[in-house]
This record gives sequence, structure tokens and C-alpha cells, in this order.
Amino acid sequence: MHPFRTKARLDGRCRVCGQPVPPERAGLGICGNPVCQTRATIEAASAEVKRKAEERDAAEAKGLARVSHVIEATAAQAGEPDLDRIATGVVPHITLTEVPQEEEQLERFETNLGRAIAEALGEEEAPEWLQTEAEGDPDFVQRAEHQQGDPLSLDAACIACRGDCCMQGNGRDAFINMRTIQWYLRQNPEAGKEEIRQDYLSRLPEAHIERSCVYHTNTGCALPREMRADVCNRWECRWRDALRGEIRRKGAARSAVVGLPRDHDDHPEEGGPRIRAVAIDEHSRVAINDGFRAGPLK
Ligand code: SF4
Ligand code: SF4
Ligand SMILES: [Zn+2]
Repeated sequence: MHPFRTKARLDGRCRVCGQPVPPERAGLGICGNPVCQTRATIEAASAEVKRKAEERDAAEAKGLARVSHVIEATAAQAGEPDLDRIATGVVPHITLTEVPQEEEQLERFETNLGRAIAEALGEEEAPEWLQTEAEGDPDFVQRAEHQQGDPLSLDAACIACRGDCCMQGNGRDAFINMRTIQWYLRQNPEAGKEEIRQDYLSRLPEAHIERSCVYHTNTGCALPREMRADVCNRWECRWRDALRGEIRRKGAARSAVVGLPRDHDDHPEEGGPRIRAVAIDEHSRVAINDGFRAGPLK
């Protein structure tokens, strides 16, 4: 805190406006003025955000220390043992496995899908917006870019993680909405309601990752990129974003990424949690290694 403010507080004055604090508010360091109180609330909230971020960073640094030996081995496997010359990262890792689809979840998904299709097409089978040029729609142009996908050195993050963010797709019915169906129609302007519905339903896997999105499988998303919701193609968590930064900074085509379960600190002992290592070599070959173990949590 600014030394002047500390002094003002000690003097029994408001630390925001410097006016005397009435006796009933003594000890709070803030007068009764709503402006000062709002300011104090904002300061307290941002101090809390900062504290949480510091806590998170400290926890992640401990996680990183547990797997640094795996990063080194994985980098070597990718053909570049010098860590200054290969993009490296640590991401979350989900250990959940596939289970048969749940009927209730499927029903809800189908209802939502039907609603999204009805909203996108309206009453007519050839809505007016579909007659306009796709290239004149900035959203569509951006969407088409996101649909391209990324290099494998970056996708290594999601391979190591196994789709932590796709868990959100359960409660949100794979994020499919009217806009998703409009993208679909842009690419398949002749498609009718039933055809679209069948296309989405036919992509549903028999089994999906427990408690996750209906399309989430052991090998990733069962929907092709062009059929996914916009957010599924666009979203990037901070761990993947950090790996993107590494790739940009080091100009690396190779990467070495380790997936560490979020609850790894429940198993602080050496070799505790299961982890996954992914190496991408210069020829974009992918090597997945589930045989490594984390070191002890210190
Ligand atoms: S975007 Fe992040 S959270 Fe989602 S699968 Fe990839 S690494 Fe995991
Ligand atoms: S549709 Fe695919 S990318 Fe989107 S949440 Fe579901 S599994 Fe993940
Ligand atoms: Zn004040």
C-alpha cells in the first residue's frame, strides 16, 4: 500500500478520500461515502484475484517440478533434447474412460439439436440469409479460418490432455446452436432438416467419455471440424495458448507436452498419478507414452 495511505489510515482517516472516518467505522479504514466503499470493494476483489492467481501459479510450478524429468525424456524422444529449441508444455489430463451413452443425455441432446435446426431453417427450407454470399459474412470467414485446424505440435496439448474442456460440452449439448447449423448450411446449402439431423445423429459414438460431451471419445471429438460448434474450433485454454507462445518463440515444429491430472496433489508420493507424454517430431510423427510416472510432490 502507498505509504501516504497507510499513514492516513493510522490517523483515523479514510484511505481513499483522506476524510476523517466516523467513530462507528473506526478500524475499517474507509468512510461511509459510497464512492470510497465501491473503490474499497473493487480493491479487495482485485487483491483476491491476484492472490488466487499466485496460488494457482505456485501450485502449477510444483506440478511442473513433478514432471520435468518426463518433459526432458519426451523432448529427447521428439529428437530435440535441448529444451531451448523445442516447444514444451504441461496441460491437464483426464483419466476418465469411455462408457455407453446415457439415454437421458442423448434425449436432451436430440431435443436441443432439433431446436437448433428449426431455428436455423425457420419455416422455409431455403432461408433468405442463405441466398447471400458467404464471403460477405465476416463471421463465416473467421469461422472458416478456425476450421482449418492447427499444426500437430500445438494439437499435442489436447492429445496429452484428452479433452478437459470437452467436459463442459455435456451440460451444453455439444454447444450446438442455431449458428452451428447455419455454418453447416453454408457448407451444404441443399440440406434439409431431416438430412442435417441424421448427419449429426449418425456421428454419435456408441460410447463416450464418462460425464462428458456426447461426441467426446478416447480418440478425441467424433464430429468433423466443419460440423462442430464455433466455440469447439475456436476455444483455446491457457495451457494450449502457452504452448502456442512456445512454438512461436522457439520457431519449433517439434513439441513435448505432458498431461498431469488436476488432482495430482491427492497422490503426492513418487509415481502417484498417471500422466501422459506426447512427443511430436520434425516429421509431425506423434508418439504417445502413458508409461511415465510423476515424481514426488515437494
Ligand atoms: S484446449 Fe486445453 S483443456 Fe481443451 S483439450 Fe486442449 S489442452 Fe485440454
Ligand atoms: S463437440 Fe467435440 S470438440 Fe465440442 S465439446 Fe464435444 S467433444 Fe469437445
Ligand atoms: Zn472516503
